[in-house]
Amino acid sequence: MPRNRDKPLSLNDFEIGKPLGKGKFGRVYLAREKSTGFICALKVLHKSELVQGKVEIQVRREIEIQSNLRHPNVLRLFGYFHDKKRIFLVLEYAGHGELYKHLQKAGKFPEWRAAQYIAQMTAALKYLHKKHIMHRDIKPENILVGIHGEIKISDFGWSVHAPNNRRKTMCGTLDYLPPEMVIPGGKDRFYDEKIDIWSLGVLMYEFLVGQAPFEDTPVMTQRRIMRAEMTIPSFVSPEARDLIKKVNSLTSRVLSDTDQFLFSSSYSTLRNVYH
Ligand code: ATP
Ligand code: MG
Repeated sequence: MPRNRDKPLSLNDFEIGKPLGKGKFGRVYLAREKSTGFICALKVLHKSELVQGKVEIQVRREIEIQSNLRHPNVLRLFGYFHDKKRIFLVLEYAGHGELYKHLQKAGKFPEWRAAQYIAQMTAALKYLHKKHIMHRDIKPENILVGIHGEIKISDFGWSVHAPNNRRKTMCGTLDYLPPEMVIPGGKDRFYDEKIDIWSLGVLMYEFLVGQAPFEDTPVMTQRRIMRAEMTIPSFVSPEARDLIKKVNSLTSRVLSDTDQFLFSSSYSTLRNVYH
């Protein structure tokens, strides 16, 4: 966002538009920076609520991490400012809203569309992991869609910068957690960015099938994750099936460039045929 760096941002610099959504702590509004006309999303956090929810450190980490990221599939954080009561985050505006809602509406995605999303997610995760950042909370609710239909990973509240690549706190939503995190005592163990790759497999399944692979009672979900036990319906193509199994494997969890390429390119060809 072009602006005069000598002058810190303030609420006066923005015209506030319609509400875009509400989270646990944040209310998000469409906004326009007055001097440049730049359209963005302004996320408003109340300091008292952050203190009450004991998430000040989490929010500080979210801001620190996200403001250093620049990738087409990662939601930009352009800047932030605060007043006595509130913190304001100036975010890139994702014109097509939450991917979760698109998935709900569609039921499931055709493979070419799932493939495009997964390819974009893979690119974003590779970028994050290269910077030694784990997202740790990959799920459709945390993925936004830009005006060109491209996806943007958001919500870095659980992410960590781990230069030593190993962390050990329990976080995220059960359905998307990998075996190493749901096993008893798992939260005391160390794990690395492969947890995001596992969630990517869960996401891919959910895109193609319409529900997460281990959805069940919490006890059963945990048990099934530990065994990587999932049923892939027969309408899922062999290529997609192979990739899901490879990513949600208990023994290895690699997503090679070739896999990513094969999956996305086979479906972009399909797309050209049908569109
Ligand atoms: P929670 O912790 O419950 O996820 P939160 O405080 O992190 O909430 P967000 O998820 O960031 O809040 O935002 C709430 C909602 O506002 C989102 O679900 C989305 O619908 C909308 N929203 C947030 N950021 C943007 C954006 N940059 N562009 C468009 N819509 C957005
Ligand atoms: Mg959120």
